[in-house]
Amino acid sequence: MNEAEARAEIVAAARSLFTRSLTHGSTGNLSVRVGERIIVTPTGSSLGVVEAHELSVIDLAGRHIDGAAPSKEAFLHAAILRARPEATAVVHTHSTHSAAVSCLADVDDDNVLPPLTAYFAMRIGTLPLLPYFAPGDSGLEELAERKAHDHLALLLRNHGPIVSGRSLAAAMDALEELEETAKLFLLLRGQSTRPLSPDEAARLAPR
Ligand SMILES: [Zn+2]
Repeated sequence: MNEAEARAEIVAAARSLFTRSLTHGSTGNLSVRVGERIIVTPTGSSLGVVEAHELSVIDLAGRHIDGAAPSKEAFLHAAILRARPEATAVVHTHSTHSAAVSCLADVDDDNVLPPLTAYFAMRIGTLPLLPYFAPGDSGLEELAERKAHDHLALLLRNHGPIVSGRSLAAAMDALEELEETAKLFLLLRGQSTRPLSPDEAARLAPR
């Protein structure tokens, strides 16, 4: 994929997230890596209106190298792409149900959501909940990089999900699966549920 194609893909995905209310206001950011360059949505932009020529470029160290100022959360994209060389894309949103789960007190920080469905087990696997940091606080960088080695999705406490993929389409797919599973989890709270067994889930787990 060349950079023009990556930019077009980011804009199409951004519109798709925004029009389906998976992001709101100027929240959410997306990135695609093309060689050593990471194309990422700019700071303060709405995913509903951002254009291909307005995107930012950072390097794998998270340094701004071209275009508009990157999202304040772009350093997280770089950290995750460093941790997962096979990944080429990262999507982060404040989607309602995932964000709601990130605010719950009584959850397992090592594995926030049970494998309620086979698709969650296949696309996400285990989902760690990272501790709270203020938006843009680079204290999250090292922790996110470490956790991303073993997880393609992370949930940021009192914030939202950040998901990587071998392609932007795969990252979007996984983020949407996470959001739908968070919705199921909240719908089922207080009811006796039967998630997949550890063995059933392990057989489907992504790397
Ligand atoms: Zn955010």
